[in-house]
Amino acid sequence: MRIFRRFLCVALLVMIASTGQSADSLKIVSAPVDFGFRRCDNRVVDTIILHSICNPEAVDKFSLESIQAILKQYKVSSHYVILRDGGICRLVEEKDVAYHAGRSRLPVSPFRRELNGTSIGIELVCDPEGQPTEAQYEAAVKLVRDIKSRHEIKHVFGHEDVAPGRKTDPWGFDWGRFRITLDQEPTVNNP
Ligand SMILES: [Zn+2]
Repeated sequence: MRIFRRFLCVALLVMIASTGQSADSLKIVSAPVDFGFRRCDNRVVDTIILHSICNPEAVDKFSLESIQAILKQYKVSSHYVILRDGGICRLVEEKDVAYHAGRSRLPVSPFRRELNGTSIGIELVCDPEGQPTEAQYEAAVKLVRDIKSRHEIKHVFGHEDVAPGRKTDPWGFDWGRFRITLDQEPTVNNP
């Protein structure tokens, strides 16, 4: 009985922690912020923008807490943060406009400006001189597929592509590898 009760408790905790369950059981931890976004109920999303972030002044520059702290400092946020271990955290609801792109422009037609209103931002926790981890690549592909199941996504770009000369992230990111994996049909072994 005690074991069953413990199991029930663990199951409950898992249910609370993972609020975003999709078809391929993508786990998303809810970690909402109260800054860096504005509420919106009727926006159309067609772009995903990948970023990098770390907090060099924190004891643990890669922790969720330190990332939230540096975002708060600048009053900005992305919708998602992917931690070094591949853990995905949602900071802002997809329906809301997060302040992650700043002055920006699509590098392809229709060359639309100010992309916050039509995009979802994903932060990959990383050093400026570093690279994403294997787990982060896997999580990024799963998350982008998941977002594509909810929105008609036409563009997936890096911050550096939409704000050239001003931004250099995502740092150390292998776009070839990412796009090849993203375009592969997910299978049971490669969800
Ligand atoms: Zn960025």
